[in-house]
Amino acid sequence: MGHVIVGGGLAGARAAEALREGGYRDPVVLLAGEGHRPYDRPPLSKEYLQGSADEGSVWVHPADWYREHDVELRLGTAVSGIDRAAAEVILADGRRVAYDRLLLATGSSPRRLPVPGAQLDRVHHLRTLDDSASLRAAISAAARVAVVGAGWIGMEVTAAARIAGAEVTVLEAAEAPLLAALGPKIAEVFAGLHREHGVDLRFGVQVTEIVGDDGAATGVRLADGGVVEADLVLVAIGAAPNIGLAVSAGLDVDDGVVVDERLRTSDPRIHAAGDVANIPYRALGRRLRVEHWATAYYSGPAAGAAMLDAEGPGYDQLPYFYTDQYDLGMEYTGYVDQSEPVDLVIRGDLVGREFIAFWLREGRLVAGMNVNVWDVTEDIERLIRSGAVIDAERLADPEIPLSEIK
Ligand SMILES: Cc1cc2nc3c(=O)[nH]c(=O)nc-3n(C[C@H](O)[C@H](O)[C@H](O)COP(=O)(O)OP(=O)(O)OC[C@H]3O[C@@H](n4cnc5c(N)ncnc54)[C@H](O)[C@@H]3O)c2cc1C
Repeated sequence: MGHVIVGGGLAGARAAEALREGGYRDPVVLLAGEGHRPYDRPPLSKEYLQGSADEGSVWVHPADWYREHDVELRLGTAVSGIDRAAAEVILADGRRVAYDRLLLATGSSPRRLPVPGAQLDRVHHLRTLDDSASLRAAISAAARVAVVGAGWIGMEVTAAARIAGAEVTVLEAAEAPLLAALGPKIAEVFAGLHREHGVDLRFGVQVTEIVGDDGAATGVRLADGGVVEADLVLVAIGAAPNIGLAVSAGLDVDDGVVVDERLRTSDPRIHAAGDVANIPYRALGRRLRVEHWATAYYSGPAAGAAMLDAEGPGYDQLPYFYTDQYDLGMEYTGYVDQSEPVDLVIRGDLVGREFIAFWLREGRLVAGMNVNVWDVTEDIERLIRSGAVIDAERLADPEIPLSEIK
């Protein structure tokens, strides 16, 4: 029979790699809904979108890799169901593929704006390589861009559109960009960055309609009746996990497919990894579904190893992600729920955007974010994992090397 992976994204491709590296010799089938072989998505809102990197830079593996490793990559193959009793997946064309173990690596999909006009031409979403190629062409032809949603993708596309010379208006329901992830003080750093680059940021607004002419968007109407004119609208209001297969198969689902540390779902023959998986984070003492590149990069192979019943501690990464906007580069390690009481400690120059932000709960580090400061992720991770109460004054003092903080 063999092992079957549904979803040809980063998590799926890395799982296939781990199966072969783990010595698995039976068939490995990778069922990929898209027509492209697995690729990395971060460049799609950054270098690739800006035109400074080409398609060659995005692939997870070279084209030959799948044949050389005897991984049967079936592109354009959507899975429509799982027959757990027969241990088979059902393809959209009705054919079936039997599995010994199955991995769900189906990722997530952009949320749609539930307003009239959302289907018009010139309204874009960004998830796939094809989305990015068409958005890139649209940005180069656009004079005025409206970005709905000031999350990571919205802000990265905003930067790309400004770099391309378009006027950009950002429309966000919250009072700041990236608020849920960063809290008000650090969110203001990103708001300031975009304002300095000439972006019109509008917070606390509700989009009620995308207005158009002749089938194509010409602007965005807000709840106060005003219209922001635009010849390109990007809707970037987050993503939802692709849980349809898991739900209809009766697997446990709770904000993603619930898995244990071995990435096993409630059916021990079925695993899940990447954006779609709700994973227990031992070092944080909580479950999370993390929609970031590093989660797919590490949980895919962890699932592959678990499909081989490999010994080991299971998945034990901390959440990690990064962004690049204009000349700001940032890495973020750990997790903080901004609705809980946390203390924010800054080391470095917040105004000059060269700093590390630390979030502490009851004196213990839960997350750290370095902005235009590099090579500190290991120390941040060490401090989070230690669980020790940290002297906030020493943490804030750039004269004391981070490596000396305990
Ligand atoms: C534009 C963009 C920029 C990003 N930038 C960053 C960044 O800077 N930093 C960062 O940390 N993260 C970033 N991310 C997030 C990161 O790319 C994702 O977390 C990562 O792609 C998740 O990988 P995955 O393999 O779990 O899912 P995906 O990459 O979504 O792959 C899942 C695949 O499964 C396929 N699929 C779904 N259902 C089926 C089915 N039924 N049958 C067959 N195939 C199916 C989908 O078509 C898709 O190809 C970005 C994401 C996007 C979209």
